[in-house]
Amino acid sequence: MTGSFLNVIIDRLPRGVSIVHPPSHCDGCGHPLSPIDLIPLLSFLWLRGKCRYCKAKLSLRVPLVELATGIVFALLAMLYGISLQLVMSIVYAGLFISLFVIDMEHGILPDKIVFTGMALSLGFSFLWTGRGPVNALIGGGVGLGLLLIPYIISRRGMGLGDVKLAGFLGLATGFPSVLVALLLAILAGGAVAIVLVLFRKKGRKDAMPFGPFLVTAGLIAVLWGEPLLKWYLRLF
Ligand SMILES: [Zn+2]
Repeated sequence: MTGSFLNVIIDRLPRGVSIVHPPSHCDGCGHPLSPIDLIPLLSFLWLRGKCRYCKAKLSLRVPLVELATGIVFALLAMLYGISLQLVMSIVYAGLFISLFVIDMEHGILPDKIVFTGMALSLGFSFLWTGRGPVNALIGGGVGLGLLLIPYIISRRGMGLGDVKLAGFLGLATGFPSVLVALLLAILAGGAVAIVLVLFRKKGRKDAMPFGPFLVTAGLIAVLWGEPLLKWYLRLF
């Protein structure tokens, strides 16, 4: 269900359309979708990826987001059980998944989501075990500051959206986990960029969205930032 809701946000927010109205409809023929067309994953398989009314191809992204959301939420439930921590981490995961897909599809990170995330993170920091608002604000400042440097130097490749997103991530992970998030994102982004250039999928100068790497690393750091950092430091 949450996956379907995220799909609506991902579809409509970048276009500036209301999230609650009109109800879900086929983008091909405009036919309103009945509840039976909206069962996560199953409808897509049953309809073989085509609209019931006009046979237009349905976007594969919708079931993929539903699947990813289901897997992430199940993982979080196993980690935290029924707890406040579970609710907060589900909210983070929802925000991160929306940002991931919107950045992949449109190359933007909407301020509405990022700023909402910042405000929520600050609120959550009071409730999250072992964190607190001071820690969150330091994390946010470090995230914002560290990405501001390449933004100012390069003026290309990295957008201001990535800088603001790093601020949100820092608020969510706190300090020093924000360093884990940024390092992971840079390593993963770099590795994927090298692979794409090697296989000539992209030229050396094509821009690749950095947001998806940031949010994926961010979620990992929210969940396992401190153990990962300890493990990393023990290597030396
Ligand atoms: Zn249709």
